[in-house]
Amino acid sequence: MTDTVPENRADKNLDKFYRARITKRTDLAEDLWTVRIQVGGEFKFAPGQYATLGVDGPDKRSERAYSIVSSPYENELEFFFELVPQGELTPKLYKLQVGDELLMRKIPKGRFTLDTKGGRTNHLLVATVTGVAPFVSYVRSLYKDWKEGKFAGDHKLFLLEGASRSWELGYCEELQKFALEVPWLKYVPTISRPWDDLKWVGETGRVDDVLRKYADMWGLTAADSVAYLCGHPDMIEGGKGILKRIGFTKEVVKEEIYWIPAKEAAAT
Ligand SMILES: Cc1cc2nc3c(=O)[nH]c(=O)nc-3n(C[C@H](O)[C@H](O)[C@H](O)COP(=O)(O)OP(=O)(O)OC[C@H]3O[C@@H](n4cnc5c(N)ncnc54)[C@H](O)[C@@H]3O)c2cc1C
Repeated sequence: MTDTVPENRADKNLDKFYRARITKRTDLAEDLWTVRIQVGGEFKFAPGQYATLGVDGPDKRSERAYSIVSSPYENELEFFFELVPQGELTPKLYKLQVGDELLMRKIPKGRFTLDTKGGRTNHLLVATVTGVAPFVSYVRSLYKDWKEGKFAGDHKLFLLEGASRSWELGYCEELQKFALEVPWLKYVPTISRPWDDLKWVGETGRVDDVLRKYADMWGLTAADSVAYLCGHPDMIEGGKGILKRIGFTKEVVKEEIYWIPAKEAAAT
């Protein structure tokens, strides 16, 4: 065990937080890992929402938003993290191992949920690296509903997941398995640095570069589809431009930008 949350932080609204305990950690690459946590209290969320996680340092509490990977049906929460070496919180999260505690705000947030009410039944999901998290939550939830006869497969998901190399494609195996089994999910992982990954035989190119090709191939149009872009700010910018050119106005494009590039952050 490394860090735990100090017990005597009464001054810092601790009643707004759960002390969650890590029950599992899986390292995918040197800067990418997943954890499962036991929250220790009620936490009702919708697939696509995020939790606010925190760690107390000697003088300050650091908190950031993290999309929830797990479905609301699971009894633990799961997250997919990328280490930002110069960042404030991720180096602290990176030190945490099974048995360690972290803080989690008791209220989930976010509107990056699957739009099943707007009349469009195709959902084009586009992610970079950890940006796949909310989409895994959609798929796990729908899969359980499908198995229990609560979801008829009338909404179709088309998921494009991009990373530099294949080992950075979190949840690739799980998503491939789902896509083979159910008729309502298509899944294409793509890598942008195939020269670093010579065994890779799948799609290549940045996810926004292949977006147009797959939207056309799957016959997705703004009349029947909603697009969801999640993760890297440049992918979201590029993806929105491509979608706009094929008629996706902003009403049918949802986005979850994970960070603001440093130069823009400095200007605001
Ligand atoms: C709704 C939402 C959901 C999110 N979900 C996830 C998630 O599931 N998994 C996850 O890992 N992150 C997620 N993030 C990002 C997360 O909230 C933090 O911003 C990130 O973990 C970096 O935190 P930090 O304190 O280590 O770095 P900071 O101190 O916040 O940032 C330091 C610098 O690095 C830049 N930066 C931040 N993140 C990255 C990055 N990934 N790559 C390159 N530069 C970066 C910042 O712009 C800043 O200039 C999400 C963000 C939002 C808004």
